[in-house]
Amino acid sequence: MGYLSTDKVKHHFHDVVIIGSGGAGMRCALQLADAGHRVAIITKVLPTRSHTVAAQGGINASLGNVLSDHWQWHMYDTIKGSDYLGDQDAIEYMCRAAPLLVRELEHQGVPFSRLEDGTVYQRPFGGQSREFGEGGQASRTCAAADRTGHAILHTLYQQNLRAGTHFYQEFFALDLITDENGCQGVMAWDIAKGEYHLFQAKAVVLATGGAGRVFKMTTNAHICTGDGGALAVRAGLPVEDMEFFQFHPTGIADVGPLITEAVRGEGGYLLNGDNERFMLRYAPTAGDLASRDVVSRAIALEIREGRGCGPNKDHVLLKLDHLGTELILAKLPNIHELALRFAGVDCTKEPIPVQPTMHYTMGGIPTNRFGEVVSKGADGVEASYPGLYAIGEAACVSVHGANRLGGNSLLEIVVFGRACGNQVLKRLRHHRYHPPLAPDCWQAGMERVEGWLRTAGKQDGLKIAEVRLRMQTIMQDHFSVYRTEAVMAEGVERIEALAAELEHAALSDGSRIFNTELVEALELDHLMALARVTAAGALARTESRGAHARDDYPERDDADWLRHTLAGIRDNKVELDYKPVRMQPMTVPSFPPRKRVY
Ligand SMILES: Cc1cc2nc3c(=O)[nH]c(=O)nc-3n(C[C@H](O)[C@H](O)[C@H](O)COP(=O)(O)OP(=O)(O)OC[C@H]3O[C@@H](n4cnc5c(N)ncnc54)[C@H](O)[C@@H]3O)c2cc1C
Repeated sequence: MGYLSTDKVKHHFHDVVIIGSGGAGMRCALQLADAGHRVAIITKVLPTRSHTVAAQGGINASLGNVLSDHWQWHMYDTIKGSDYLGDQDAIEYMCRAAPLLVRELEHQGVPFSRLEDGTVYQRPFGGQSREFGEGGQASRTCAAADRTGHAILHTLYQQNLRAGTHFYQEFFALDLITDENGCQGVMAWDIAKGEYHLFQAKAVVLATGGAGRVFKMTTNAHICTGDGGALAVRAGLPVEDMEFFQFHPTGIADVGPLITEAVRGEGGYLLNGDNERFMLRYAPTAGDLASRDVVSRAIALEIREGRGCGPNKDHVLLKLDHLGTELILAKLPNIHELALRFAGVDCTKEPIPVQPTMHYTMGGIPTNRFGEVVSKGADGVEASYPGLYAIGEAACVSVHGANRLGGNSLLEIVVFGRACGNQVLKRLRHHRYHPPLAPDCWQAGMERVEGWLRTAGKQDGLKIAEVRLRMQTIMQDHFSVYRTEAVMAEGVERIEALAAELEHAALSDGSRIFNTELVEALELDHLMALARVTAAGALARTESRGAHARDDYPERDDADWLRHTLAGIRDNKVELDYKPVRMQPMTVPSFPPRKRVY
């Protein structure tokens, strides 16, 4: 076992290690690097290839540049959008902080689109209202054309380069280093050089993004494999509300790339096979700008009842040519290009074929509004896990509850990136030295890679890509827009059986240098763990709430299910537990559950 000697592991010391260079990780790093700390970002791709770069439509803040607005209206919309599963203290915090954070981005250099008077351009998005739903549609989403994430990520990257953040790019985080005092660092694999690195830190922040690749059809990049949640599960921690995956109503049919909600915000609308604007039937007030779960279900129902479009009647159409070429090319240039490239459609002339597509991971690593990872102790009381933090799509803070509103995720990553940075600063005041680590602390991480490399070339081994496709297909077929007991129960069985089969998977390539199949195998471990907890949590939840819609339990059940799911894996078995929703905001009265209509 020569590889276990220490000279095979490079040991680094940082005040803080952040895993992930998306908007969340970058915003957090900036807060800490600007305060003079030695901050490292580990990222498995080049920093600006993180999925944040793909965000299109915009970021919400009640600036009131177009129509009057108030953070409490934003808070109300977010709670209603979450189907009352969102934690109201975190939601208040986020909505109050939003205008400050967006102005800060503007000053950091984000090239927002502008109104005539020079202020930041804001467009209407789904689920937005004024005066607590009484004042009609709001216009709350700040945009840089339809490339808002690109603008934000590049700006934050440049700010981090200025601030002196250390980037370890194309490094894959393998394992959290934990002991009785909490999290002490992380083991990582240098993908390009094939070397092991041990990062010791006084605080570790998981900012690893979503897990969309659990499903077959998704708007998410190939790198969205839920690594942070799976690392937490490996460390014995649970993940929260994983049964809530958002289906975006308008992915390009058959292929998946996203057509932003901004298209409907700018005046586009959906048509079924009878050329009918069917959303007006489902949501008489909000129409095409109802919340995403509502629109996705409406499309699924239209298709199910035979009113889909195309030869297989399996999609609907998104019409926007009436907006005019000038507006489309100025405000939605990226959509124009995507539709041409992926659907062969010139959207200034024809409608785009669309269908609901997996888009966003509402669940994740449980945290409080300071970004601290929380879990129940042996005494059943929730406490923060020392030294470990989680932010962004990887975390469940939970501001999105059972359904996220468009434009709230870019907001979440900067708000909680900053809040977490501030909380870490407090910890660093009291934790000034690196403690000694257990001498074998890197072994588990190293064994993950060595274990896979040993399988290389095994004759009867299953292929990684094949197991992944089977997993994605099971999730797509059994845990889609509409769910039922029998279909999900079969899904749970099939996923559990496949997870056992994964042990017989083998690499075909045993090289250590830039072995992308090895990286995919490590990611598949992560996806499989999250698929298992997602499936179990979904089967157990006998109600319909937000993105979790059941044919057999069509109503929301607040008496039994106004609570968060916590799911972990112990002794290779999925374990479920629950905790209450935080209904008490910080300073304003609570918004109690009401029937959700749009
Ligand atoms: C197509 C699309 C459009 C969207 N549009 C909008 C929008 O208009 N408005 C909005 O509010 N939201 C939008 N969203 C959602 C939003 O973009 C994301 O939720 C958000 O950007 C996530 O940011 P993040 O920093 O949490 O993670 P990401 O940006 O996904 O970054 C994750 C990082 O973690 C790193 N990482 C992961 N695992 C490992 C590992 N094992 N080792 C090392 N590094 C690792 C990756 O390299 C990456 O740097 C959109 C999402 C998609 C997919």
